[in-house]
Amino acid sequence: MNRRIIDAHIHLDHYEEDEIKQIMADLDAVDCTKLIAVSYDLASCQKNWQLATIYSQVKPAFGFHPEQELPSKKEQQKLFQWMEEHVNDMIAVGEIGLPYYTRKEVPALKIEGYIELLEQFLAFAKKWDKPVVLHAVYEDAGLVCDLLEKYKIRDAHFHWFKGDQKTIERMIHQGYFISITPDVVYEQEIQALVQQYPVELMMVETDGPWPFENPFQGEMTHPQMIHESIKIIAEVKKEGLESIYQQLYQNTGKFYRL
Ligand SMILES: [Zn+2]
Repeated sequence: MNRRIIDAHIHLDHYEEDEIKQIMADLDAVDCTKLIAVSYDLASCQKNWQLATIYSQVKPAFGFHPEQELPSKKEQQKLFQWMEEHVNDMIAVGEIGLPYYTRKEVPALKIEGYIELLEQFLAFAKKWDKPVVLHAVYEDAGLVCDLLEKYKIRDAHFHWFKGDQKTIERMIHQGYFISITPDVVYEQEIQALVQQYPVELMMVETDGPWPFENPFQGEMTHPQMIHESIKIIAEVKKEGLESIYQQLYQNTGKFYRL
């Protein structure tokens, strides 16, 4: 059976050097042909760019992860300038979005600066015709949908998406993609999402090195885990394993224009 996979969202640069070597050496054996390597900040963009020059399977996305302190205006300028210089090396703009979890911890956090930065990224994506990789969950997802419509961006990937019914329906209607992490193996909330979301708009990811729970407790997050996710997706969708493998692989290739 053809069981090729693409990890549609991994922070490869956040692994230790020896772990990166191990993952890259393992890829063929676990039928993983490519990694969409998303970035956290400018240093992370540079590291992923470098990894992509070493390993042809690494496809880098450049952006700024929203769950951290905002960069100064000067730092933001530096990041956008670097991205313009490397626009032909990037497969997408990401990871970008809004700081949902940070705001839960710090309710006084001002959101305006984050929205402003996100809008700059969306304008950049529109200008250079790049897909966007979004960190936007629960209430933030609706707000991000508004911004995507404002900037007329259609190629949107909501990674590790969680949200309410209304937003799910809106996203399906707009043809936005989501990706499923290995927590689908043990989280009912994610299984329910899989049941509802069309498989034609789905990808699979690890978000590594983010750690997972039982049955992955204590294991280094590895693209290999995606095979366990796909088994569950096929079960939930009541479809053949091979057709699910094929569909997810095709979706990711098409979305990221690989
Ligand atoms: Zn991520």
